[in-house]
Amino acid sequence: RARKRFGQNFLHDAGVIHRILRAISAKDSERLVEIGPGQGAITEGLIDTGAQVDVVELDQDLIPLLKLRFGLKPNFALHSGDALKFDFASLGSPEQPLRVVGNLPYNISTPLIFHLLSFSGIIRDMHFMLQKEVVERMAASPGGGDWGRLSIMVQYYCRVDYLFTVGPGAFNPAPKVDSAIVRLTPHTELPHPAKDAALLETLVREAFNQRRKTLRNTLKSLLSADDIAACDIDPGLRPEQLSLANFVALANRLHTLQNAAGSGEPE
Ligand code: SAM
Repeated sequence: RARKRFGQNFLHDAGVIHRILRAISAKDSERLVEIGPGQGAITEGLIDTGAQVDVVELDQDLIPLLKLRFGLKPNFALHSGDALKFDFASLGSPEQPLRVVGNLPYNISTPLIFHLLSFSGIIRDMHFMLQKEVVERMAASPGGGDWGRLSIMVQYYCRVDYLFTVGPGAFNPAPKVDSAIVRLTPHTELPHPAKDAALLETLVREAFNQRRKTLRNTLKSLLSADDIAACDIDPGLRPEQLSLANFVALANRLHTLQNAAGSGEPE
């Protein structure tokens, strides 16, 4: 029986499972990590590719079932615990990067993706089933209502591909909303590196706290209108009109100002 507390909606549509496996197209030399295998709907096909498959499952009640089903497979390893606290560096390395897979519990999807992004140097790609609306926000472009903190921080680290939509009927129990499969591929070199990624996060959060207001207002506590203009950005714009490169420029300006202030030197 599915447990709501763990965000359990088990996939049962063989066609959808097949499409996910085809999108991943794992090779036997690869190392996969599945988050929240549940009853093993996707796991079985992953194991059949011959790749090494490590799974991380939080629900203790599912552990015996997973052991029974896959425990004898030599390329399968079970980790019982919380993926939000899991040390993915214990499985992957730059030489053997991980391919992450998960039909994620929707209530933890954003913090989990941010946790995974902290390991982006050892991740080759990630395929996730998420709420469709969340995938739309990740894949958004500047200028629209979907463009925001999630789009910017995910696109800072990864290329985002919206692969396909999955209706509620593919799951048991059926969720209330549409889902979608997204592929996130960490950049080998960041296209717009920030001097301090934490500062970029702070700035983006502040900017989108009140997304209808102008930058002059939303960034008041961090940057003056003159500082914004010095980055070739009109302080009268709203945050959703700025590109990732614009936000990085603002964060780098803030970094320079803070360092100048910290060292006591005049600008
Ligand atoms: N992959 C299975 C499928 O497609 O049928 C199950 C998907 S279900 C939406 C999400 C799974 O994640 C459940 O098995 C749930 O117990 C597990 N889960 C929930 N929170 C978790 C966490 N913090 N760490 C690891 N697994 C978690």
